[in-house]
Amino acid sequence: MAALSRLLRGSAASMCPAGRWLSSVVAEPGFRFPATVSQKGAAPTTDPGCRSVQWVFLGCPGVGKGTYASRLSRLLGVPHIATGDLVREELASSGPLSKQLVEIVNQGQLVSDEIIINLLSNRLEDGVAKGESGFILDGFPRTTRQAEILEGVTEIDLVVNLKLREDILLAKCLGRRICSQCGGNFNVASIDIKGENGKPDISMAPLLPPEHCMSKLITRADDTEKVVKERLRVYHDLSQPVEEFYRNRGKLLEFDLPGGIPESWPKLLQALNLDDHDEKKSAAA
Ligand SMILES: [Zn+2]
Repeated sequence: MAALSRLLRGSAASMCPAGRWLSSVVAEPGFRFPATVSQKGAAPTTDPGCRSVQWVFLGCPGVGKGTYASRLSRLLGVPHIATGDLVREELASSGPLSKQLVEIVNQGQLVSDEIIINLLSNRLEDGVAKGESGFILDGFPRTTRQAEILEGVTEIDLVVNLKLREDILLAKCLGRRICSQCGGNFNVASIDIKGENGKPDISMAPLLPPEHCMSKLITRADDTEKVVKERLRVYHDLSQPVEEFYRNRGKLLEFDLPGGIPESWPKLLQALNLDDHDEKKSAAA
């Protein structure tokens, strides 16, 4: 009840898009949005009296949550904060935590709460100092302990849980490639699975690099089948209580990815009751 009253206070406090968002969340804890409530045009706002969305994206490693979180952050004008990126930046910086991190990542283990919270709070503080409003968190929280700590620090409006079949996830993870020159992320896996028991087909095109990157592709050291399977197992063990944590607070939106980005993006926007004006403009051009 405490969480709900905090939510209600939050929604009453502002008339901005985020505020409308909160009120619809409270009205519909099961996340079936009423047709009359619209977040369309929930664009970034410059009104200092209200803040932007504060969302969390959950999903297995390789599900593509970074891609969707990043697209949504551009659409909503909020920063996309990926704890995986924070970890990689720390690794690359040879900062105080980097030696410890190398060992953990190479073993396919998850980084400890303390390290992640350290990195994340530094990032959030930097953002506030730069005048950022709102965020989409990607890869955090991973444990209920992290979720509890986060709840004490800031208000989370919505948690989107992206889901994809495990065999597809494995294939996608093993297909990941990085360009050693420009750092671009690509995927060479071509997935084409016939739907069974009345389920729709799932096809996901590879995300191939431009020609000049082709000969420079490398596979991340932690994208071997053994490490990926271990990562998925650890993820599932940890994520179920986190999903439960947010489900109990009426904040969890479950989203089964129907395929690749072209199939999933419009459906995700629909589920979030958002409108991609840019996409429509470019489609019409
Ligand atoms: Zn490249």
